[in-house]
This record gives sequence, structure tokens and C-alpha cells, in this order.
Amino acid sequence: MSRVHRIPLSISNAYLIEGAANILVDTGSPGEGKKIIKALERQGLQLSDLSLILHTHGHSDHYGSTHELVKLHPVPTMLHSGDLHMALSGSNGPIATTTFFSRLLRPLVDKPFQPHKPEHLADNFSDLSEFGLNAMLHHTPGHSEGSISITLDSGDIIMGDILMGGMMGGAFLPTRPGYHYFIEDREKLHRSIETILQLRGDRYWVGHGGPFTYSAIARWYEKVI
Ligand SMILES: [Zn+2]
Ligand SMILES: [Zn+2]
Repeated sequence: MSRVHRIPLSISNAYLIEGAANILVDTGSPGEGKKIIKALERQGLQLSDLSLILHTHGHSDHYGSTHELVKLHPVPTMLHSGDLHMALSGSNGPIATTTFFSRLLRPLVDKPFQPHKPEHLADNFSDLSEFGLNAMLHHTPGHSEGSISITLDSGDIIMGDILMGGMMGGAFLPTRPGYHYFIEDREKLHRSIETILQLRGDRYWVGHGGPFTYSAIARWYEKVI
């Protein structure tokens, strides 16, 4: 059975999935490679123990240190093609902000980063068996076109920025679900929330704040829809 370790970084969470194989999910903002390596070391692991660096999406606070890490060790990387333009240009591109607060926050989240072309496109995989892990991949667009979620045999779901925890980027009430500040397509986002609810996870891990229970998301979604 696999285990999820949260790696809290400056403004986002990365995750280590430890199981039959070890997979890193997301790499934080630019310049956070060392923090990630330290977090791996705490579990007795090095970059060379990873079979894959998987990205929930291509924003700079999730893809920011990928180039730095793969320069140290050539771990294969994966991203959905919907966000490929971000990975190749090292920029988020135009981001739709939903609130005044998000416009204030934007310079923090919208940093340029070192481009890196992923070896694998998530579009070509429905699971991670090729990388040694019993986990399913789901395309869950809306926050960005290339957003994906990962379900594990442990009942854990890692869902990136589909939702966000609490207020001020998860600093307060982190386990209370809410909309992320940035939404590319609200219709698609709602369908993706329904997808992850249908998957019936025990714990839902997000890019900012979290984790959530199934019932916390279901109750919140009933109110907003
Ligand atoms: Zn994002
Ligand atoms: Zn994010």
C-alpha cells in the first residue's frame, strides 16, 4: 500500500508517494529543489530513488523547481499536454484571477521558471504501473487545461489546484475546501470536482492547504453549485 507524505514549500505543497515505487508529485516554486531533496532524505530517499516526477499541472508554483531537480539527476517527468506550453516557455501564460486578493497574490504565484520538456505526457497514461506504482490518473481540467488528479490504493487522492484549502493560500483553516483563486474554465472545473467526488477518496490532498475529507468537499460543493 502506498503512503503520501506532504512536502510543505514556500507557497505550495509537493508530495512524495512512497510505495512499490517512489514518485514525487510537483516541485514547488523556482529555487525549492534543496528543500525537496531534504524532504526525500528524511524518508531515507534520494532523487535517484524516484521513478517519476509527476506534475498535477504546469503552473510555476508546481513546476518551478523541476529543471533544477532533473539537472541533479535525470528523473523522468510527466505533465498533461494541456499545460505543455507552460513547461516549454517557463511561464504560466495568461491567468484568470477570481478575486481582488488573487490579483494581489498574482506576482507571487506568477514567477517565471526554468523551462523543462517533460519526457511523458499524462494524456498517454491511465495509470502509473509503468513507473511501478499502483495508481490511476484522471484528467481534471478547469483550474488549468492540463490539470490531473492521482488516486492511490490507500484511498488518497492528490488533486493539485482543483480546490484550495482555507484562506490566505491555506494559512488559515487549511482543511476547509474552497475555490482556488485562479480558474481557467469554471464549467470544466465543476465537472472535475464531480469526478473527484465520484472517486470517493478517504483523503484529498491539494496544492495549497488541505487535506480534505470526502464529506467536507461534498458539503461545500452542494452549497456553491
Ligand atoms: Zn495552479
Ligand atoms: Zn498552485
